[in-house]
Amino acid sequence: RKGTVIVTGASSGLGLATAKALAEGGKWHVIMACRDFLKAEKAAKSVGMAKENYTIMHLDLASLDSVRQFVNNFKQTGQPLDVLVCNAAVYQPTAREPSFTAEGFELSVGTNHLGHFLLSRLLFDDLVKSDYPSRRLIIVGSITGNTNTLAGNVPPKANLGDLRGLQGGLSGLNTSSMIDGGEFDGAKAYKDSKVCNMLIMQEFHRRFHEETGITFASLYPGCIATTGLFREHIPLFRLLFPPFQKFITKGFVSEEEAGKRLAQVVSDPSLTKSGVYWSWNKDSASFENQLSQEASDVEKARKLWEVSEKLVGLA
Ligand code: NDP
Repeated sequence: RKGTVIVTGASSGLGLATAKALAEGGKWHVIMACRDFLKAEKAAKSVGMAKENYTIMHLDLASLDSVRQFVNNFKQTGQPLDVLVCNAAVYQPTAREPSFTAEGFELSVGTNHLGHFLLSRLLFDDLVKSDYPSRRLIIVGSITGNTNTLAGNVPPKANLGDLRGLQGGLSGLNTSSMIDGGEFDGAKAYKDSKVCNMLIMQEFHRRFHEETGITFASLYPGCIATTGLFREHIPLFRLLFPPFQKFITKGFVSEEEAGKRLAQVVSDPSLTKSGVYWSWNKDSASFENQLSQEASDVEKARKLWEVSEKLVGLA
């Protein structure tokens, strides 16, 4: 049978390119989990995806109710779940004030980390039940959260500290809206959320890989300087960033190529190793990359898991 894969944020950028790559291969039915149905439908059509290869289902990761609703809707379809790809993200590098999810968590961490954490936890049973030969849970990471790289050292650097802000609920009311308890910084909040994504992937691996055989992976697909992720950046940045990445850092990768990379992590028989953070070299060959000290901190991962469980209502 065809595999069923859920891709969050498949209405643009990397998610759309991945959905397209998977649909074209003919081996996958893609559930596009998106907050804007019409945008997703137009996007799927614009890249020529055939109707029988995808289904759009509503998911707003900035609302835990919506996450629960999505999970119920998916379960009601009776389809198996073979691979889950947590790809959606928001990035607010120029925001002066924090914005918040429906439950009052700072938006970047609330969407990118907490929304995906609840989604993965609620769908985990389905992955366990699937009889597909290679079941996978993939969370898109980023180089920017990795302080062992040049890009990860551009200030403000990711730093979760002792998680005191997260423990306080990230509400920004009487407590901080930042995980480490500091002043709001939109660029840092995004990087922090990506560190959370990478920590949670490894925590899943430690808790469940042996027992279930499920592959847990993260990746940095390269700098896809043209996606909507940079939509809130200042116009000059948006103008100069793609050529800068193309010609100076040479880290630039097209949406199409990045989509093929993520599609490999979904279905390539050679990428079944669990607990790995994949990257690609200049010849577009995949390799197991190293995570920064913070992103591979076992104790922090465990604590992040426990605090996050409380915030999303699982504990
Ligand atoms: P895009 O902005 O193009 O895509 C992000 C997607 O997330 C969009 O489809 C967006 O939906 C969706 N999204 C945002 N908020 C929500 C929400 N509340 N509920 C549901 N969906 C939501 O950016 P990219 O394609 O670049 O980003 C995809 C992933 O790649 C992210 O995880 C990002 O961190 C990662 N990444 C990107 C890099 C890059 O250079 N661009 C580098 C490294 C990692 P909508 O279409 O409705 O806006």
